[in-house]
Amino acid sequence: MIEYENLGKANQPFFEEYQQVFQQVLKNGWYILGENVGKFEQEFGSYCNTRFCSGTANGLDALILSLKAFQFNPGDEVIVPSNTYIATILAIVHNNLKPVLVEPDIRTYNIDPDKIEEKISQRTKAILVVHLYGKVCEMDKITAIANKHSLKIIEDCAQAHGASFKGIRAGNFGHFGAFSFYPTKNFGALGDAGAVTTNDEELHNIINTLRNYGSKIKYHNELVGYNSRLDEVQAALLLVKLKQLDKLNQYKRKLAQIYHERLKNDFIKPCRHSDYYDVYHIYNIRHEQRDKLKEYLLQNEIKTEIHYPIAPNKQKAMIGILDEQAAPIAEEIHRTTLSLPISFFHTESDIEKVITIANRF
Ligand SMILES: *Cc1c(COP(=O)(O)O)cnc(C)c1O
Repeated sequence: MIEYENLGKANQPFFEEYQQVFQQVLKNGWYILGENVGKFEQEFGSYCNTRFCSGTANGLDALILSLKAFQFNPGDEVIVPSNTYIATILAIVHNNLKPVLVEPDIRTYNIDPDKIEEKISQRTKAILVVHLYGKVCEMDKITAIANKHSLKIIEDCAQAHGASFKGIRAGNFGHFGAFSFYPTKNFGALGDAGAVTTNDEELHNIINTLRNYGSKIKYHNELVGYNSRLDEVQAALLLVKLKQLDKLNQYKRKLAQIYHERLKNDFIKPCRHSDYYDVYHIYNIRHEQRDKLKEYLLQNEIKTEIHYPIAPNKQKAMIGILDEQAAPIAEEIHRTTLSLPISFFHTESDIEKVITIANRF
């Protein structure tokens, strides 16, 4: 059986170092907002080329706090792609803001810059872009639109650690970059964890305050804050993995390259272009007979996943919020997409095997 993911196996190369740093944190006795979090924020910020970084409890909180920092008015609108993981939309809804869907470009699966302006209204305050599957959005065009209309940009970087567009890394284009270190991400912790990057010192201070009960000085609360801090243990583990992140991404790119070259062209493969450095959080193909293909691969001992089976506007939770916004392109992607195995523990021969079997479909 070729598994889709196995986090025990994917983390195995780090076990020894993890145990050492865990012992250190354990003995150190400082478990919240200590030296590991501080060090991680510095190192991950510099990895992303941003001036500042704040650890958070998870990726959803990173998005929620990023939007919260601007103190928009209830009912203000945020532009967001119609095909994303639900967390992106939830961050908008939990801020009492209105998500306004923009369809993706069917080639890149990312928000279509040419469809943004028609959705901008008097109430639009921000564009929340998502660098889906590890490919950065067309940020040159999007930044130009945002500047023209004085909109904030927030990047959902949960799938794009180390990915870049025209040489610039995710997390650098917007006012904020929101990252998740959920265990299955390319850069995953051993539990929930996240971060917000920014190049703006004032915004950085607001995030640091918001994540810690709205307090800069202990027991002095200046904002209506949250408890959303990155744990010392997770920060210490992430510091270990960060040293290998470029190598991990390169490895995924190598596996993706094999898929790209050898999968037959009946499958619609991810588009590639020299402007993009993609990190393949997910390697998806599209096919009219997606469900049959998934079943066929499973019968041949290959597990796959669907990212995602239901478009956000079709989710039960979004009745009364999104269900009146049509998203036929997103629905087409959700209907036809299939994610093939591409974890760090997969070998090149695992990938070759998947290809050989898939090509017989
Ligand atoms: C994983 C993910 C999130 C949420 O991150 P969590 O750490 O699970 O809260 C947000 N957006 C996207 C696109 C994601 O893939």
